[in-house]
Amino acid sequence: MRCERCNQVINESEAREHLGQTLCEDCYLDALSPVRTCDPWAVHSAKTYEKHSGGSGELTPIQSRILSILKETGGIEPAALHALLGAELTESDLQRELAALRHMEKARAQKNSRGIIWRPW
Ligand SMILES: [Zn+2]
Repeated sequence: MRCERCNQVINESEAREHLGQTLCEDCYLDALSPVRTCDPWAVHSAKTYEKHSGGSGELTPIQSRILSILKETGGIEPAALHALLGAELTESDLQRELAALRHMEKARAQKNSRGIIWRPW
């Protein structure tokens, strides 16, 4: 049989019943522990990361390049920005960097008559 949560193969003797699910010992303990359920550690590390990446102003080289283009142009369409950055970045990479910059409150998207443009925050 398998644990219904982590899919690990378990012996009948190791199996635990929890809310109608068959779980391995680890998942059972996990399920019983309210601390683990809301996963404060994940939230904590996300916040620490945010503080680190936002507060210190540390940017990756590509993020600083994007930012300086945004500042030079005062606002640019994603496609034009992508063209300026060249082939080293795929479009989805660029989207991810822009999302990170927005998260750090360094850049933001603004809608104009022609579509979305990215500007410094
Ligand atoms: Zn399990």
